[in-house]
Amino acid sequence: MFELEREELVERLIRWGYLNKPEVVKAFRKVPRHEFVPDNIRDYSYADQPLSIGHGQTISAPSMIAIMMESLDLAPGQKVLEIGAGSGYNAALAAEIVGEKGRVITIERIAELAKSAEANLRKTGYGWVQVVVGDGTCGYEKEVLWDRILVTACAPTLPKPLIAQLKIGGKLGAPVGQHYMNQTWLVAEKRDEKNLKIQECGGCSFVPLVGKHGWKSED
Ligand code: SAM
Repeated sequence: MFELEREELVERLIRWGYLNKPEVVKAFRKVPRHEFVPDNIRDYSYADQPLSIGHGQTISAPSMIAIMMESLDLAPGQKVLEIGAGSGYNAALAAEIVGEKGRVITIERIAELAKSAEANLRKTGYGWVQVVVGDGTCGYEKEVLWDRILVTACAPTLPKPLIAQLKIGGKLGAPVGQHYMNQTWLVAEKRDEKNLKIQECGGCSFVPLVGKHGWKSED
């Protein structure tokens, strides 16, 4: 289902310059985005736009996801922590690249979303990805250290625990900025315990990262 739409999307993202790395292109070709999108809007799965997944949250536009995935230099065997499971789609792409010899854990603060992310991952063959309910701004101490940390909601600053839980040489990708505006996709490479090399990869717009080391909850 949707094979043609998925291939057309991949071709467009390559033409527009969002997709370049063979392993990321391969993952976009393989992972069925429509299986991560609510039934009533499934026909829009391969349009380049963010889509609502309920609870006021979104699955990002494919071009934004391409920027995120390409910026992290994911490779087979890596240990990847994602903050903000949402639909589970990003975690599936990461899992496709790192493979079962790697490890992917994704944390989601909204329990209902975590449940559907888990179901989406299971039905698409990525059931080995672990979905955890909790505040991802604190990271995941139980399995430190991480090769890559991917944050898919916007923080006011890079959360300190995430930097601490990164391996030397590891990379953390995150949107940083204000509520829904003036946000920049940052990639921080941990040079040593005290130094980060920070690269700015362009503007973006994400939902807020809500938690102890993010924004305060308005609930
Ligand atoms: N990566 C997702 C996907 O593939 O569909 C999209 C993520 S959506 C843009 C951001 C997600 O981050 C939301 O589901 C939101 O509930 C979650 N979130 C916000 N703050 C969080 C936190 N402190 N810990 C874990 N998840 C958080």
